[in-house]
Amino acid sequence: MKDCREFYIDGKWVRPTEPRDFPVVNPATEARIATISLGSRADVDKAVAAAKKAFASYGETTVEQRLALLQRIIEVYQSKYEEMATTISEEMGAPLWLSRAAQAAAGLGHFFEMAKLLGSFKFEELKGSTLMRKEPIGVCGLITPWNWPVNQIACKVAPALAAGCTMVLKPSEIAPLSGYLFTQIMHEAGVPPGVFNMVNGDGPTVGAAISSHPDVDMVSFTGSTRAGVAVATAAAPTVKRVTQELGGKSANIILDDADVEQAVMAGVQSCVLNTGQSCNAPTRMLIPRSKMAEAIAAAKRAADAVTVGDPSADGITIGPLASEAQFEKVQRLIKKGMEEGAELVTGGPGRPDGISKGYFVRPTVFANVRNDMTIAREEIFGPVLSIIPYQDENDAVRIANDTPYGLSGYVTSGNIERARRVARRIRSGNVHVNGARGLRGALTRECGPREPGSAPRPRPTRAP
Ligand code: NAD
Repeated sequence: MKDCREFYIDGKWVRPTEPRDFPVVNPATEARIATISLGSRADVDKAVAAAKKAFASYGETTVEQRLALLQRIIEVYQSKYEEMATTISEEMGAPLWLSRAAQAAAGLGHFFEMAKLLGSFKFEELKGSTLMRKEPIGVCGLITPWNWPVNQIACKVAPALAAGCTMVLKPSEIAPLSGYLFTQIMHEAGVPPGVFNMVNGDGPTVGAAISSHPDVDMVSFTGSTRAGVAVATAAAPTVKRVTQELGGKSANIILDDADVEQAVMAGVQSCVLNTGQSCNAPTRMLIPRSKMAEAIAAAKRAADAVTVGDPSADGITIGPLASEAQFEKVQRLIKKGMEEGAELVTGGPGRPDGISKGYFVRPTVFANVRNDMTIAREEIFGPVLSIIPYQDENDAVRIANDTPYGLSGYVTSGNIERARRVARRIRSGNVHVNGARGLRGALTRECGPREPGSAPRPRPTRAP
């Protein structure tokens, strides 16, 4: 069992101020695989003080110095690429193929992308008589979730380093081992003391201490809407900037001129990828009422073809959910869908046949779901698809927008102009048109097939 109880503050591995051990559990086996410490406000104070001190010099570094640092991080990350992929699989259950092709790859991709951007980024620009100067904001508090753990860490750390900021990272306590390894990479790459600090802990203690700290200039948060609201509220009295990437319940509008079979199959595969634990998963599939029977048959075929099993085994599509809490939540919501009268097409409560241990769930499809049912409103964060019928294009747009979320959307049509027209009417941060940049697309087109263990050079996966 790994001992990961130290924090990383001011360039050194340190013990927590007060010991508070916390187990890390492998969701496939339910076995304890490591111990971390949950930190306190005092640990955050030390980390923030180190970051504040380091900002005085790091904030003045040249682009060339920071580019060299990013390059060293890339090299060390590459040397630990396979360890990163295995660690992610063990801590949160992603299949090894996915950890290699996307989870670990996305983390590395952010550093490549940031190095590319930094080389040509205009920090100063003269507009008329005004000099616009982009400056590092200062000390950044970075709070990340467990579902794409290192992707989320790297997509915050890489730009902060590139800009000249210093930082305190709090990885998710559910999947903290990739964050621990990431911190070892930072150390080995020679990130100057105090520039990058890591304190493990829970949200209400360490997360809240970071969000409310007067010497933290900005908080970048990714996670649930519930915690995002708590972070913004805690940050308000010190008037710091807050960026949030929160949950989703994304609509996937399949228009009547699309190849329904193909679009539905692709939609199911995207929905279940990473065991459905992606914020932008297309979990509400909107189908013309006249095509419902065809869509249901295709969705059942696609879901029944999903293989569930040991993340390290060959040939599996999905592993377990990341935690017991997540397992219980998904079970509860599947049962709720049945109680509220949605048509269960395949899957249902319980573990897949032949599996008696681990947080494995059955890929589940509900049809004839109404948009006011709980399974259409709440983010389930499991491999559970709701198929919702619509009358016409206006009805589809209305249903897509009838959600408290606004993260992502999907439109498929036989006519690209029509797809774009509908996409423009969806009120979400981004819309994937005709399969573009979907999770499956990101995997197959951008990471491409490769030898197991080799480090790819993918584009970053922005917000899964
Ligand atoms: P979570 O909100 O429970 O936890 C996320 C992080 O916030 C963790 O590090 C946690 O310890 C911390 N946290 C919890 N309560 C806090 C508080 N009161 N103050 C400060 N920090 C707090 O989310 P999760 O279960 O780890 O991740 C799943 C959620 O994240 C889903 O809702 C998913 O959609 C969302 N997510 C969004 C994106 C995106 O880019 N939009 C990406 C990945 C995940």
